[in-house]
Amino acid sequence: MTTLDPAVRLPLDRLVLGPDHPAVPFAHPFRAEFAEWLVRNLPTETEPHDEDARFARRRAWQATMNAGGWAGLAWPHEYGGRAEGPLAQLMAYEELALHRAPEPANTPGMILLGPTLMLLGTEELKQRFLPRILTGEDLFCQGFSEPDSGSDLASLRTRARRAGDDWVLDGQKIWTTFADRAGYCFVLARSEPSSQRHRGLTLLICPMDQPGVTVRPIRQISGDSEFAEVFFDGARCPAGWTVGEPGQGWAAAMTLFQFERGDPGYTDHARLLVELTDARDLVHAADDAVSHAARADLGRRATDLWRRCQELRALNIRLALVAETGGQIAEAGSVTNLVWGELAKDVADLVGDAVEAAGAEPTASVHHRLASRAKSIYSGTTEIQRTVIAERLLGLPR
Ligand SMILES: Cc1cc2nc3c(=O)[nH]c(=O)nc-3n(C[C@H](O)[C@H](O)[C@H](O)COP(=O)(O)OP(=O)(O)OC[C@H]3O[C@@H](n4cnc5c(N)ncnc54)[C@H](O)[C@@H]3O)c2cc1C
Repeated sequence: MTTLDPAVRLPLDRLVLGPDHPAVPFAHPFRAEFAEWLVRNLPTETEPHDEDARFARRRAWQATMNAGGWAGLAWPHEYGGRAEGPLAQLMAYEELALHRAPEPANTPGMILLGPTLMLLGTEELKQRFLPRILTGEDLFCQGFSEPDSGSDLASLRTRARRAGDDWVLDGQKIWTTFADRAGYCFVLARSEPSSQRHRGLTLLICPMDQPGVTVRPIRQISGDSEFAEVFFDGARCPAGWTVGEPGQGWAAAMTLFQFERGDPGYTDHARLLVELTDARDLVHAADDAVSHAARADLGRRATDLWRRCQELRALNIRLALVAETGGQIAEAGSVTNLVWGELAKDVADLVGDAVEAAGAEPTASVHHRLASRAKSIYSGTTEIQRTVIAERLLGLPR
């Protein structure tokens, strides 16, 4: 990928053909205000390859966004947010992409736990954690998957039992993103010993910095170690730190999944369009270095991907309109997630091939291509999203 001045904004009307959408117009005053803030506050250095340095940059960006009042865009004022609606959120995500802004560090806290706590948490937990999620002082990780319980999450075996004023956790989680950086984990555990499947589970907040928690990072195909195995061996959490009622963990997890599956679609159509535009500019700039055949192949694929990005944008605007008028996105999040996951991998492939054809430096694009493989896995695999759509949206037989 090319290295560009991070303050350079690609205009959205160059990336989106067709009529300006009245719900999220290119010239909206909210966009202009946010874009102006971004230009003044974006980090000036390019993204480092080193993983620790990359995370430190994300953490610093999270603090900058929070100080500017932009971190909790859709969160209520009382928890440090800006109380904007879904359409403004969509415009903000587009502007972040167009300006090539880093991601904030605390995505599990901001996208998953925060909104779930607002619906199901006690007032004490909301006051305790929500503002510190936005500042990035309390980083979170998500302890759901286990070695034999990924897609089939209801088979999980990590146990939680009450002991005095605490819950005590025993078991193992896996693929836990940021486990070695987070101060807290939201853990789905079996709190009723003889319970089966989705009954008798509880969603608990567990401090990571204690003797009963061991984190072993796992190396990914991209070379990063973003996720880890987490072992709970008598780990303790305060009794009141349950998200929702004890025994109602499955309902809490399903609430959280709606945020997990709906959100990446909002964020990513513009990022993918930016990647496509960069790839096209790179091929154009390389001029004679790219063979006629490669140019034709890349052009054909880019056109198709560009069309799919426009479709994703249209879908995201539609869902944002539903949410703006008080509707629930619910299982429709699986549609954006399915479209986005497959599209993101195909765009990363095209970018990698464009860099190769142009003879440009490949480190970033190779990393990006390998890291993109996870996008159709981590918030529910493609197969699982298809099942959700078939059974719950289309009403097909199980
Ligand atoms: C980069 C990354 C980050 C992650 N971060 C986290 C995290 O922070 N916290 C966390 O809890 N988890 C995390 N995960 C785990 C993720 O949620 C699981 O990988 C995912 O749910 C799939 O589970 P599994 O890996 O056990 O695969 P399995 O469930 O074993 O699936 C293996 C294959 O079988 C298919 N399959 C399984 N069941 C069915 C079925 N019923 N019908 C059709 N096909 C089926 C799947 O689609 C897949 O292709 C992360 C994963 C990745 C890759």
